[in-house]
Amino acid sequence: MTEIDFEKIGLKVGLEIHQQLNTSKKLFCKCKPVDSDEYTEKFSRSLRTGKSELGELDPAALFEKTKSKKINYYANSQSSCLVEKDEEPPHDLDHDAKKISLLISSMLESKIFSEIHVMRKTVIDGSNTTGFQRTMLVSQGGNLKVNGKKIGVQAVCLEEDAAKLLKDEQNERNYSLDRLGVPLVEIALEPVSAKPSEVKEIALALGRLLRATRMVKRGIGSIRQDVNISVMNSGVVEVKGVQQLDQLEKIICYEAKRQYGLILIAEKLKKLSITITKEDIFDITEIFKACESKIIQNALKLKAKIKVIRVRNFSGMFGFEPYPAIRLGKEIAQIVRFFGIGGVFHSDELPNYGINDSDVDKVKKHLELVDEDGFLLIAGEDPKLDYAVNSIVKRIQDATNGVPAETRAATQDGETVFLRPRPGASRMYPETDIPSISVIPAEVKLARENIPKSWDESIAEIQKKYALNPQLSEQIFDSEYMELFEKICKNKKNSPNFVASILCSSITNLERQGLDTTLLKPEHIIESFELLASGKIPKESLEIIFENIMSGKSENVSIAMQSTDVSSMSEDELNGILDKIIQKNMELVKKLGDNAITTLMGIAMKQVRGKISGQAVNVLLRKKIQEL
Ligand SMILES: [Zn+2]
Repeated sequence: MTEIDFEKIGLKVGLEIHQQLNTSKKLFCKCKPVDSDEYTEKFSRSLRTGKSELGELDPAALFEKTKSKKINYYANSQSSCLVEKDEEPPHDLDHDAKKISLLISSMLESKIFSEIHVMRKTVIDGSNTTGFQRTMLVSQGGNLKVNGKKIGVQAVCLEEDAAKLLKDEQNERNYSLDRLGVPLVEIALEPVSAKPSEVKEIALALGRLLRATRMVKRGIGSIRQDVNISVMNSGVVEVKGVQQLDQLEKIICYEAKRQYGLILIAEKLKKLSITITKEDIFDITEIFKACESKIIQNALKLKAKIKVIRVRNFSGMFGFEPYPAIRLGKEIAQIVRFFGIGGVFHSDELPNYGINDSDVDKVKKHLELVDEDGFLLIAGEDPKLDYAVNSIVKRIQDATNGVPAETRAATQDGETVFLRPRPGASRMYPETDIPSISVIPAEVKLARENIPKSWDESIAEIQKKYALNPQLSEQIFDSEYMELFEKICKNKKNSPNFVASILCSSITNLERQGLDTTLLKPEHIIESFELLASGKIPKESLEIIFENIMSGKSENVSIAMQSTDVSSMSEDELNGILDKIIQKNMELVKKLGDNAITTLMGIAMKQVRGKISGQAVNVLLRKKIQEL
């Protein structure tokens, strides 16, 4: 990437962190906040329009409506009830969730309100069955200390998590309800002028503060960052769904580059006079009947229309790249894709994609274009096509202003893609089903008195208690396995060092190989360590059992042991096997003495691997040979 001076371009970043709380119930019902992988029920809704009760039509809601999707919800009775289905009003606020939010507010020195009002925040993507998310402002102001600096806190909110997206298809979207209603704390920090690496440090510090409470969920997906990014005081772009810190840093770098690139494009555009009117939109379906492009022919088969937008003086502007891969053509293609339309081509990339010189000439002639002009060609069905054409025209006109305020989604490789326009301001209105909730001084006092040890102190404590090195202590504390680790080490039969490295590295390695960690349940891990502690399986078997379960071959430890041939071997059995091996190789033993062990070990391990540890075999074999 071309180096960018973040300070010079006035990069500003505001973090909004969403952390799931580790409660035994959901925020407004008694359902357990557990992930389901089996769904016993399915029901469908059509997307609600987001006309909020204040009467203004939300631009983002309008945009979603134009995509007219059917929403399917999958539910499991263990993790969802009538509240999640919006067939019953919410129950009382979960007491633990309230307590944890007050604790987090106290840790951030944020001013707690004496009364909490439940508000509805319009949700337009179908991720909530009600069409809104319940959210409560718990406290305001405060600060987070990061490397000696104080970062301002805007607010701490307690809210319900959204349904989990399973699959997003062209006309249907599938969600599961198990995550819907899980308590979340949302912490919004003041925007800071900082380098992407410094923002990563801030996010890390906040994540650690939250984990120090030991009352929040851990692991991927349990903490999510939304990032508001702007450069040179232009439109703020909200990037949703950042799950990892390395990804966060990359995304800020990418957005800074993209936004500054769009500003450079705007500077160039300001010198040209760009106007697009209705007269600049042409239907060329007839003219393109004979076009050999597969994309065009496939579209025509689906009775799509082909339209062209004429943009005077625009030649070279769709493809102009102030930075590699930052260009208006890409921005437009992303908007079009969100209408479920695949084919859009601009004049700077044609002829190509089977659209040849003569096709381009036909367009130029029909539109009366001169060399300085540009055009955009798009194939799609009505009414989607009209929405798409209008959005493209608007995007081209907005391009002279630099960065449009929009919501974008983070991608795994550290880029961002267009998600929807920024929602309007009128997204919140009061929840009428729940009366306001009071916070009494005693609750605030309790929270202040219970501020936990800091993350650093917690790490030092683990290091001492379990005799772990600092790195492993950090890894286990930050991981989703911390509670499990403490549970397993409680009986003092397993070495904490071994338990921590299996939980932190072996399982992660298996996951990197593409295996599914969600199949390996805590009870599987506990059972395996118990077998190990009682000498029933060797150390080497743990990974074999985990691998078998994570690859979906077995659904519990005993089946995994059978299918992988891991079994406990008694000392008697081993005795018998070793005696036979020694007898068969008596001559070798007589000749080499102790030095025969290496060879005999090899023979023995072939027979007993996975059933007993190599060390145990070695000890017994050595003993036998010495006795001889
Ligand atoms: Zn429920």
